[in-house]
Amino acid sequence: WVSDQAFVTLATNDIYCQGALVLGQSLRNQRATRRLVVLITPQVSNLLRVILSKVFDEVIEVNLIDSADYIHLAFLKRPELGVTLTKLHCWTLTHYSKCVFLDADTLVLSNIDELFDRTEFSAAPDPGWPDCFNSGVFVFQPSLETHGLLLQHATDHGSFDGADQGLLNSFFSSWSTADIHKHLPFIYNLSSNTAYTYSPAFKRFGSSVKVVHFLGPTKPWNYKYNPQTGSVLEEGSGLANQHQTSFLNLWWKIYQHSILPLYE
Ligand code: UDP
Ligand code: MN
Repeated sequence: WVSDQAFVTLATNDIYCQGALVLGQSLRNQRATRRLVVLITPQVSNLLRVILSKVFDEVIEVNLIDSADYIHLAFLKRPELGVTLTKLHCWTLTHYSKCVFLDADTLVLSNIDELFDRTEFSAAPDPGWPDCFNSGVFVFQPSLETHGLLLQHATDHGSFDGADQGLLNSFFSSWSTADIHKHLPFIYNLSSNTAYTYSPAFKRFGSSVKVVHFLGPTKPWNYKYNPQTGSVLEEGSGLANQHQTSFLNLWWKIYQHSILPLYE
């Protein structure tokens, strides 16, 4: 056990909390040996805070408006970067020496503690533009100095995609060329529709996938699930293929068996 390192996620509302809960539970199921931390914002209800604290070691509220003045300023100048700037708060967790950030729409399928052997800034390629990294899974080192530089970068340059991924890619711009050790293998951030875009690779490597990322507009919690059959309902949902369906079923299985009982 390493108590000065942590897995970190973010949920700014009760909906994304459902994703964070399943992610946290999936890390526990895989016997993660680091602390589990969730960053939340003031909109998250008291009920969800209580539930989150049953899965996570730390539930930390971050508030843009109440934070230091420079954050406030950055937020006012670029209101569209709200959630982005919130994600950047993970660099303020300086009671940890190193962390792995995971989006709330990711699911851990096997132990990923070895990610802590990597250094800042490590991430996997984005499936849409592989010279950019996907910011749904990354290794970072908390530092108020880095946090300040990131906010400054956000105020000065904004984000080319309006979100954290564009900002982080332009800040850590040497990622694609400088150090291959900072390229995480794709199995640490597999977008759930990859089996569809390159199915032979999925057939060859799919069984070693460690983290699935439900990237895009339709999240697991947007589907309907039939607890009797243990599968999501497919009508009208445009599911791409059976692999994607099996990842969704896995997400729902954890939600049904381990998260819903926490509400009782
Ligand atoms: N997020 C959040 N509330 C929101 C939108 C995003 O808490 O309203 C957080 C959450 O951790 C989420 C991450 O920001 O996983 C990135 O957003 P999302 O996963 O929706 O983007 P995608 O991966 O689909 O590009
Ligand atoms: Mn995501």
